[in-house]
Formats: sequence, C-alpha cells, structure tokens
Amino acid sequence: MPDLFLAGAWRAGADGETDEVINPADQSVLAHVDRAAPADVDAAVTAARRAFDRGPWPRTPAVERGALLSRVAELLVRDKEEFARTETLDTGKTLGEARQDVDDVVAVLRYYAQAAGRSLDREVEVPTPGVRSRIVHEPVGVCALITPWNYPLLQISWKLAPALAAGNTMVVKPSEVTPLTTGLLVARLDEAGVDPGVVNLVLGPGAGVGGRLCEHPDVDLVSFTGGLVTGRGVMAAASRSLKRVALELGGKNPNVIFADADFDTAVDYALTGAFLHSGQVCSAGSRILVEESCYEPFVAELAARADRIRLGDGMAAGTECGPLVSRAQLDKVERYVALGREEGATLRAGGGRPDDPALAKGFYHRPTLFADCDRSMRIVQEEVFGPVATVETFRTEEQAVELGNDTQYGLAGAVFSADLDRARRVAGRLRHGTVWINDYHPYLPQAEWGGYKQSGIGRELGAGGLLEYYETKHVYENLRPGPQRWFAG
Ligand code: NDP
Repeated sequence: MPDLFLAGAWRAGADGETDEVINPADQSVLAHVDRAAPADVDAAVTAARRAFDRGPWPRTPAVERGALLSRVAELLVRDKEEFARTETLDTGKTLGEARQDVDDVVAVLRYYAQAAGRSLDREVEVPTPGVRSRIVHEPVGVCALITPWNYPLLQISWKLAPALAAGNTMVVKPSEVTPLTTGLLVARLDEAGVDPGVVNLVLGPGAGVGGRLCEHPDVDLVSFTGGLVTGRGVMAAASRSLKRVALELGGKNPNVIFADADFDTAVDYALTGAFLHSGQVCSAGSRILVEESCYEPFVAELAARADRIRLGDGMAAGTECGPLVSRAQLDKVERYVALGREEGATLRAGGGRPDDPALAKGFYHRPTLFADCDRSMRIVQEEVFGPVATVETFRTEEQAVELGNDTQYGLAGAVFSADLDRARRVAGRLRHGTVWINDYHPYLPQAEWGGYKQSGIGRELGAGGLLEYYETKHVYENLRPGPQRWFAG
C-alpha cells in the first residue's frame, strides 16, 4: 500500500521518490516510504481546505466527533502489539516503553473523545436590557501538525485528538526518521470512517515538506513539536500569513535534590529522569542540582547505577535502554561528550559507545554523567537530547531556584525534598511549564503541558490543549432592534 494519505486515498508521491526507514538497533532497512513532492503537499492542503470549507466535519455534532476518537482508541487497543513493535523498531525505544506509549495514546484519545462533547461556549452577563451576548468556539480551520522522532505516536496524538475533537481538518507530517506508526494511526482513522480530506498524511524531509506546510497560505494553524532552532524557523515562515502557531520545543530541565529527600528515591528518579529513552525526551532531567551536604554520595551512587543500565536492542527482553534514533543523533551526543571533557567537567559514568561487539552496528551510547559542572558550561546550558546528564551543587534554597531558572528554556523541572512546604515553595518559583515534586516524568492527558520562555508557545493536553484548536467568537444579539439615531441626518 502506498504511504501518503491524500483526500481519503492512499497514494505514492507525485515524483515517485521514496525514503529508507532505518532500524537504529542494527541499521537494517525497515521500509521504503513514499516521499511527498511539493504537488502532494499542495494536494493535501487543498483536500483539507475543501473538507473544512465544504465538508461535514466542522459541522458534525461534537459528540459524533468524539465517537470517532473513541473508535480509533479501540482500534489501537486491538492492534497494540503491532503499534508497539513498529515503534520500537523505528525509534529504538524498548518494547515496554512502546507499549506504555500506546496505552498513553489510548488515554489521550479517550480524554478528547469526552472533552469534544463538553461545550466551552458561554453566555455573557450583560447589564443592558434587550441584549444577548454569547461566546462560541469554532474550529480554526486547516492545521499542519508536525512531530519529532522521539515519541512519534504519542506526539501526534497530543495534536490530532484535540484538533479533531474541535472540528478542524489537518495535514500530518511526522519526522522522516520515524514515520511508521503515524502511518498506522492514519490507517486506523481511515478504518474508523474519518471523512475524506479531514486527515491527510504527507511524508518526507522537514525543510521541504514541513517548510512548505508552514508557508502555505491555506493553512490556518501550525502545531509544531521539535527543536528550538527549527521552531524559530517555523514561526518565521508561519508569520507571513499570520497563522496561529503552537510550539513545543526543547528543554534543559533542572532536577533539584535537597539533602533531606529520601536518598534511594531521589537517585532512582534522577536516573530515570535523565536516561529514560536514552535521554531523548524533551523533559529529560538532564541538569541535576544536588545540595552540597549530600553531593558526593549522591553522585557516586547515580554514576554507579548509570553504568549498570543494560543497553541493547529495544526488542530484546531485559534491555533497559535502546540505541539513539539515528547516526546524526549519535554524532551530536559524541560532540557534546567531547565538549563536556574540554570544558573541564568530571566524567563519572559512561563517556562513549559500549564495547559489546553485539551492539557495534547500532547507534548506542552509554549513559553519561558529568559532575562538578557549573552554569557557564555549554554542556549545562544546551539541550543534548541524549543520555548525558550534568550535576551541579547548591547550598541554599535561593541558589537552587536561581540555578534552576538559569536557562533559556522552561519546559519542566522537579524538586525532591521531605519538606513538602519547601518543595512547594521551590516549585512555585521555578519558571517551567511542569514541575514534579518527589517524582519525575509523569504527565496526565487532563493536565496542560508546555513551555515557559523558549520552550514554546501554547499548551498541549488538558482543556488548554483543546482551546489551541478553537477560534473564539463573540455573538452579540440586539433583541429589540430599532433605529439608533446616532447621527441626526
Ligand atoms: P526537529 O526540530 O529537527 O524536527 C521536528 C519536526 O519538524 C520533524 O518532523 C522535522 O522533519 C520537521 N522539520 C524540520 N525542519 C523543518 C522546517 N524547516 N519546517 C517545518 N518542519 C521542519 O526536531 P527533532 O525531530 O530533532 O526532535 C527533537 C527536538 O524536539 C528536541 O529539541 C526536543 O526537545 C523537542 N521535543 C519537544 C517536546 C515538547 O513537548 N516540548 C517533545 C518532544 C521533542 P524531519 O525530521 O523529517 O526533518
């Protein structure tokens, strides 16, 4: 079956070009997928435009839109293993993580299936007699949904589910590195009976295919998740026709550990925070801040545990961390590890590729911990997006807050302390979109997710994530019309 989904039909690219999809665990070729030519991108936007302007979807009762999302959720439950295995092969993540991703996607679809039916419209209280004033919410229009390679299935669900719930039509563009599960999801939408043109799928390189979507005059909104530099370009391109823009960008997320925190718990969460999915997580706790009085034992234990993380093929039982997603990502991580050494950080764990010959063909990198870091280092300030964490120390609560906020990013952070009052105080002062107290990484479909500062614009998930896909209209009714006689003539 061809891989592009345009106006309700599966098609090959107009230029007949394809791209290889590589398994990062051994560099084998998983698939050849069709690449969208500029004409295909235009056809996808035209189909979405027509479905929005003339099709039934935006005018379909919200509960019916929710019912479609519920049907898709059930198809994912049915096909969970296929989705999870494909995601593992494509991204390198462990099968356990991929199964968790599918469960999370089902939860997101179900949440927005319910939310679709809850109207956000309201009556405005007006002091003037004979006037009715209403706030109503209408879909924005044609949405371009652009996603990265670390959580391909999960990320598209955060966009597609609220966009559909609100009655929009869309063109979906996954990363060319990991397009497979997005294709499976669109196939399930097709099976569930989505109207032609409501969801369109284009594949291919970011700058060409994604860039064309961001510039296209018939696209009303771009929701983009990816890196900061790309995000700036997306915003600039979208500004030419003043599209709505939602950006979920990177992070350099502080994990603040006070000495009174339970030691084993704090080490354990610091390990997961930094190294889950080989650190290729936007909210990875890659900047660890430890109170001076427990600094050395904490670093020693964290380093020992990091060195014991079992690397391997994500499909193999017992694997705790898979490979990085691509050669380019491995090269980037190696450059940052070299930089950390040059900058004078102390390497306490990892530092290179594994010796195991069985892993030689994959893009593996050992979990790496740099201690004795300070805020002036690039390794502390820049997002590595790989298995590299830095440790700094602090003496006072004030210093912890200052360091935790000393970043251009503001996506997520955590505080570990037995003193809940203090943890809440610090959480209140951290300028990040999510703060965990004595935990790391969980998110809820019901709770907004997004960044302060240069981690993004707008929110996903929760009611705020749905609002991104609505325009707000004020309808003012004069119930006793008559001449106003403002002008005498
Ligand atoms: P990129 O910014 O390189 O790419 C993200 C997406 O944008 C991909 O689909 C990519 O396509 C596409 N793209 C690339 N160039 C353009 C362009 N000029 N115009 C339009 N689209 C384009 O990010 P990565 O894929 O490398 O993902 C990693 C980044 O994503 C990290 O910085 C991470 O922090 C961030 N991220 C943020 C999350 C959040 O919730 N805030 C969640 C997950 C990741 P292609 O890959 O085909 O080139």
